[in-house]
Amino acid sequence: MSQRGEPFDRFAAAQSESRRSAVRLGSKAGHEKRTEVLFRDYVDPDSLRRLAGEIKQHTLDHLDLYLERAQARLEANGAQVHFAADAEEACRTVLEILKSRGAKRVVKTKSMATEEIELGAFLERHGVESLETDLGEFIVQLDADKPSHIVKPIMHKDRREVARTFEGHGLGAYDDTPEVITRRAREHLRRKYLEADAGITGANFISAESGRLVLVTNEGNSRFCLAATRCHIALVGIEKLVPRDRDLGLFLNLLGRSATGQALSVYTEFISGPRGAAQPDGPEAMHVIFLDAGRSEILAGDAREILRCIRCGACLNVCPVYRQASGHAYRGVYSGPVGAVLTPLLAGEHFPEFADLPRASSLCGACNEVCPVDIPIPDLLLRLRDRGKRAGVKPAGAAPSMKSFARLASRPAAWRRALRAGRLLGLIPGPLRPRALRVWGANHVLPPWRGGAFRAWMAERKRKQP
Ligand code: SF4
Repeated sequence: MSQRGEPFDRFAAAQSESRRSAVRLGSKAGHEKRTEVLFRDYVDPDSLRRLAGEIKQHTLDHLDLYLERAQARLEANGAQVHFAADAEEACRTVLEILKSRGAKRVVKTKSMATEEIELGAFLERHGVESLETDLGEFIVQLDADKPSHIVKPIMHKDRREVARTFEGHGLGAYDDTPEVITRRAREHLRRKYLEADAGITGANFISAESGRLVLVTNEGNSRFCLAATRCHIALVGIEKLVPRDRDLGLFLNLLGRSATGQALSVYTEFISGPRGAAQPDGPEAMHVIFLDAGRSEILAGDAREILRCIRCGACLNVCPVYRQASGHAYRGVYSGPVGAVLTPLLAGEHFPEFADLPRASSLCGACNEVCPVDIPIPDLLLRLRDRGKRAGVKPAGAAPSMKSFARLASRPAAWRRALRAGRLLGLIPGPLRPRALRVWGANHVLPPWRGGAFRAWMAERKRKQP
């Protein structure tokens, strides 16, 4: 496929057909499962989505209050609370905690915030071994690859590719049997849990009322990270708060069903603080780092609703653009419709590097319809497009503007002539077509012209009517 067009198109085109097909099938299956389970279990899932969206929006609108409340509760529970304004400060804070404990090895559970600030690479540069323990993330780390999906990071890989990776890293001779792959990963990871000095997690939610930190996984790796290590560091975006413990029921029910079509994820942990005097195991120290890294700025802007996101991945699974392009085209930790909004916003005010992302959408609205916290993603994409346009940001390789199309479409005579010409255009060999169409056509397939012109058909129909 050609390498022209916007960066999004180029990254999408760089994916092999087998990878694209794996993402297409995986996301379609994820969406079908989510819909089946949600509508099987609830009479009116939409009212739950709206309620969850209102609770999250309320929390965001009073975030200063809830952050203070959560800090007070966490400290009363024995945790130490830190605030990090940006990625650099967050990474340094983690490193200082580890240094103060003489920690040299850490195990991590899947945490998008740590990926966002590239914590693993930072720690490695400072002599700390950092290992991902979620199976998908572990494979991504071995391959020095990037996740292609928020919930299923290796959706783009098949078991043969994973078996080759394991063989290449000394994890046994090639064997692509799924049970063998998971058993080998388990044996390797269990040794690492026992050797580790600290466990680093994110959090799906934190209740401001009790300071309870909630983690959900399907592999139990977060439990191992916390049971075997003596220090727990949780790096959490400031938007992860919910006001009360009772809100957690709603969010956990929506998260499991929206993410994987499960009534509840297999492991749901509620962590209130470090190990108590009467408890036999668990970390003796707990640190919670609240990460800003651009979130306050997003909160002050006109796309603040995106901070409601609970990272379920449902909008990716339903998105026709994501299904064709796969997650790597979004070039950030967050992919799909949520990534098309969040990645540019986290990058800064005018996001020239990611200006193509808000345009990578058909605005069909499916992402909004499935979002468990009712984020109006198409509206946010339009606001970002507008913001980019006002700032004069033009993505590299952008197609010519729609101005010429608008001029044409608003002049009936010119439009009729253009339609006649359009019919002939399909007969012109690709390289001889006008430049605008060559750029657009680099990553799009123009369907062959079939049938007659609609206007002629309509005129004929009217003529025949009595
Ligand atoms: S934007 Fe909504 S649907 Fe998409 S990942 Fe976030 S919560 Fe899920």
